[in-house]
Amino acid sequence: MVAFPKSKVDEYASACEGCTFETRADLEEFQLKRLNELLERIGGRGLYAEYPTHLSSLADIANLPFTTERDIIDRPSQLGMVSQSQCVRVISDETSATTGKPKRIYYTQADRDRTTRFFEIGLQELIEPGDFVMLGFPESGELGLTDLIEEACRRIGAMCYVAEDEARYAIDQMSMLSPNAYIGHPFHMTALLDELAARDTVPTFTRALISGDSCSAELCEAVAAAIGSYPFLHYGSREIGLAGAVSCSSHKGMHIRENDLLVEIVDGNGNPLPDGEWGEIVITTLAQEAMPFVRYRTQDRGRIIPQPCECSSVMRLLDDKIERM
Ligand SMILES: [Zn+2]
Repeated sequence: MVAFPKSKVDEYASACEGCTFETRADLEEFQLKRLNELLERIGGRGLYAEYPTHLSSLADIANLPFTTERDIIDRPSQLGMVSQSQCVRVISDETSATTGKPKRIYYTQADRDRTTRFFEIGLQELIEPGDFVMLGFPESGELGLTDLIEEACRRIGAMCYVAEDEARYAIDQMSMLSPNAYIGHPFHMTALLDELAARDTVPTFTRALISGDSCSAELCEAVAAAIGSYPFLHYGSREIGLAGAVSCSSHKGMHIRENDLLVEIVDGNGNPLPDGEWGEIVITTLAQEAMPFVRYRTQDRGRIIPQPCECSSVMRLLDDKIERM
């Protein structure tokens, strides 16, 4: 068996919590403590008014109702757990064609700090001090995604820039700036690879992380062939603070930041499924301050890889073939 360096997600969890999780039992004991703190904090309030404030085991969470996207759209005030003045960032998304109501997600400074820290430590799977990184995401504005990645890179000692949206300009820019690493959306990467092939040229970067949507096995192989190394993948969404799970160097899946997120997989009837089985990813955000969710139905289809990772991380692996349901 080839040994891989332990996932950076374990390092992130230790850095956040000031302790090391050596076994699943250690981690699950911590998760239960965090879950009960969350239930205590949100108990009697808004959407969670009728929820218990204490559970005696993690498995008992299966008895609680789900939170859905509809709840966020229709009843945002019942999900906010801090005053508006404590929120530093609101992401507003026009999601519903029928009602026209936006989906708003709120964050406090502490929520953003946790995300930046996850990016800072997680990105060290592939980013090193002195690197120059191309970002293949649209400019997100103050405290948005690109801002947080930029801050994370700066803390690592790397620099980055937001690439042109259109591939032909992004390639011209790449030729001038010579970035040696890439972080971006699968659509952006696909367009880059097409343009590179059309020009019969090679990218200047040799490491990549793909995030923002599912990345097919074909795209991963195409990236690996073009840059000479297998791309790292990241899973996140606005509801979970943008940061969720990231590959380690074994590339067998994405390690979940389980000190912050309690992940379940459920079947079509909402019943919990064992590790290894495919179903809907349901997430409880244990650490979010402004807008925590209990059992949020992500509408993403995925599974937990049942085998422990060769990198010896205690954080479970989410299969990287995630699909929108
Ligand atoms: Zn691993």
